[in-house]
Amino acid sequence: MRRPLAAIAALLAASSVQARENADLLIRGASVVDVAHGSILPRQAVAVRGDSIVAVGPDRTISRRFESKRTVDASGKFVMPGLWDMHVHFGGGPELIAENKALLPLYVAYGVTAVRDCAADISSSVLEWRDGVAKGRLLGPTIFTSGPKLEGYKPLWKGTLEVGTPAEVKAALDKLQAMRVDFVKITDNTLKPDIFLYAVKEAKRRGLRTSAHTPYALTIDQAVDAGLSSIEHIDYLIKAGSPKEAEIGAAYAAGKLSYGAATDAFVDSFDAAYARTTYRRLAAKGVYVTPTLNMGRILAFLDREDHSKDPALAYIGPGLRKTYDWRIERAAKATPEQVAARHREHELSMKVLQMLQAAGIPILAGTDAGYLNSFNYPGEGLHDELDLYVKEGLTPRQALVSSILTGPKFLGHSDRYGAIQQGKAADILILDANPLKSVAATRKINAVVLHGRLLNRAVLDKLLADAKAAAH
Ligand SMILES: [Zn+2]
Repeated sequence: MRRPLAAIAALLAASSVQARENADLLIRGASVVDVAHGSILPRQAVAVRGDSIVAVGPDRTISRRFESKRTVDASGKFVMPGLWDMHVHFGGGPELIAENKALLPLYVAYGVTAVRDCAADISSSVLEWRDGVAKGRLLGPTIFTSGPKLEGYKPLWKGTLEVGTPAEVKAALDKLQAMRVDFVKITDNTLKPDIFLYAVKEAKRRGLRTSAHTPYALTIDQAVDAGLSSIEHIDYLIKAGSPKEAEIGAAYAAGKLSYGAATDAFVDSFDAAYARTTYRRLAAKGVYVTPTLNMGRILAFLDREDHSKDPALAYIGPGLRKTYDWRIERAAKATPEQVAARHREHELSMKVLQMLQAAGIPILAGTDAGYLNSFNYPGEGLHDELDLYVKEGLTPRQALVSSILTGPKFLGHSDRYGAIQQGKAADILILDANPLKSVAATRKINAVVLHGRLLNRAVLDKLLADAKAAAH
C-alpha cells in the first residue's frame, strides 16, 4: 500500500531531525573573521561543544546539521578568536593576591581570553589560577606563566630564583620544570652576563622557551645566538640598531656609563640602515619581540598626562593602585633633560615597530599590565597597544595577528588557537563591527565565548560592575 506523500515527508523530516547533532552553543548568521588571510566569510554558523568549536560553515548547512538549546543570532556581527595579551604580571606581594585574582574576569570582560604572565612575586597563586581556569573552577583567561624568573643575587625584584653559577641555573630550571612552567623568564638586574647566556642555552637544551631582558654587556645577537626565544620591550631593539652596541655595552660593563647614560647612547647612535640589516638577521634567527609600546608611551609622558580621571582606574584595587606610585615618583624626579630623552626614545621606538614588521620579526602584542606599571590597565591596555600598532603603520590585520596568531605560535599552541575553525578552542569574540577595517572594533564586544561558555553583554557588564565594586 502506498503511503500518502505528506506522511512520507513527515517521516523524512522526523528522521532528519533525529539525525541532527547536538551542540552546546550555536552562533548563527555571523561574519567570520579569518585573521590569517585578512578575509571575512559572511553568513556562517559556528557550532560549539564543550570547550571546542566542532563545526563552522554556511549557516544553512550548519543549522541543518546541529541543534542547540542555546543559539545566538549574530547576523550583522563579526566573530573572531579571543585576544591574547603576551606580557602581563600578577604581583605586588602576598597581600595583593586577592586584588590580582580580581583582574582575571576583568581581562575577559575586555575580550582577552589568554594571558602570558611574565613573572613576579606571587607565582604559586598564578600557578593555582592557571589550573583553576583550565579546569573551569575559575572565570578568567587561559594563563601561561613563567613561574618565578631567574635573576642574579639580591635583585631589585622579589620572588625570583637567584642564580650565580651553572649549578644554580640547573637547580632553578629543575624547579621550574617541576612547576610545568610554559616558558622561562630571565632578567638582568643583577644577573651576570655569562650566567645569562648559560641559562638561555641550558633552557633551550631542555626544550624550554625563554623570554628576557638582555644584559647591556651582551649584544642582542649574542643573546639570540645562545637561543633566546623572545625579547621583551622594544628598547632592546633600539640597542640592537646601534652600530655602537658592543662598544656602549662594554663601557657600561666597565662602569664608565650608567644604565641611563648607556640607554641614551643607544638612542643617540641608532642608525636606520644598520638597524634594518640587524633586524633582518634577527628575523632569520627566529626571535620574537614583545614591544610593550603602550607602557613605553605612558611612562614617557607621565610628566604631562593626568591619569587621575582614567575610567579604567576604577577597576584597579587600592593596593595595586598604590604600586603605581613607584614609577610616578621616579618620573617626578626626572630632570628636563631626562624627560626629553624619554620622549626621544619613545618616538624612536614607534619608528622601530614598523621596521621590525618590515624585517619579518614576529611581533607579540603585550602590555606589561598588572602592577607597578602605572595606568597600563589589564584588559584595556591591550586595546591601547593594538591601537598604537595601527597608528604606527601596521594594518589592522597585522595588529590582530600579533595577538591572535603570533601569541599561540610562540607558545606552541597554534593547533588549538588562532582561528574560528573546527577543532580550535571555543574562545570567541562576537563584535559589533569589522576588526579588519578598524582595530577599534575589538572594543565593541557584544559577547565573549570563554572555553565554550557564552558571556553576553549583560554578563560582561556585570563582570565590570563587580570588578569596580571589588576595587573600592
Ligand atoms: Zn614586564
